[in-house]
Amino acid sequence: MQERIQIIQGDITRQNVDAIVNAANCSLLGGGGVDGAIHRAAGPELLAECRTLHGCETGKAKITKGYRLPAKYVIHTPGPIWQGGRYGERELLASCYRSCLELASANGCKTVDFPSISTGVYHFPLKCASQIAIRTIAGYLAGHPEIERVRMVCFDADTESFYRRALEELEAGV
Ligand code: ADP
Repeated sequence: MQERIQIIQGDITRQNVDAIVNAANCSLLGGGGVDGAIHRAAGPELLAECRTLHGCETGKAKITKGYRLPAKYVIHTPGPIWQGGRYGERELLASCYRSCLELASANGCKTVDFPSISTGVYHFPLKCASQIAIRTIAGYLAGHPEIERVRMVCFDADTESFYRRALEELEAGV
């Protein structure tokens, strides 16, 4: 099971996979961080399609084409803004990962790459976010053989080390 989950360091806009996930905001009209990078790399056609979607609720997801990206699709999900942990942030983050994987399955995507949702300007604590991400992805994959591989594409070494540890903990049954 766990060999279907991989952790790499890199730029998600350069990955040649069926779908990359965008850590978007609820407007779906672009922003900073990974969202800005994805829109820059995909070109203006991505924003044009996003305008037709009329936004997205936190924890849900919507899919578009990838346009000038090597990826075929972009799955956009607004992660929760960390507000101390008493506002359902953990459940909403898990819901982001699940909603994206459900859309990937529904659209025939076999390979899916995620960025570290909510741990940038949304300030979700990295340790907690990485554990939620890995456990939610593993839980989904267990019941969905149609998804062959999911990668966490971490932009920096510190982020990568947290996801690596979360995956090791899962494999060790911690
Ligand atoms: P959020 O608003 O969900 O916190 P951010 O874009 O601020 O989203 O950050 C989410 C994560 O994406 C951070 O770890 C950030 O370093 C990372 N990131 C930024 N650009 C890229 C990129 N091109 N590829 C992969 N990850 C990226």
